[in-house]
Amino acid sequence: MPWCEPCERFWNPGTLTEAGECPTCGNPVDAPPETDAPPRQRVPWHFWVAITAAGIYLAWRAIQGIGSLF
Ligand SMILES: [Zn+2]
Repeated sequence: MPWCEPCERFWNPGTLTEAGECPTCGNPVDAPPETDAPPRQRVPWHFWVAITAAGIYLAWRAIQGIGSLF
């Protein structure tokens, strides 16, 4: 709900002026931000490089560990 500070009251978005101002005092009313979903966080490519490198390293260590048993 848009809230007008000077008037200390909520306004229906439909009752505001076209510029989004309070119809009583003309104060620009803080309209709630449009419900724009935050941009999807894309996983950076170097994350997968690090994961792959860690996987290869752990696989190598596992092979070494198994090899040391015999
Ligand atoms: Zn006002």
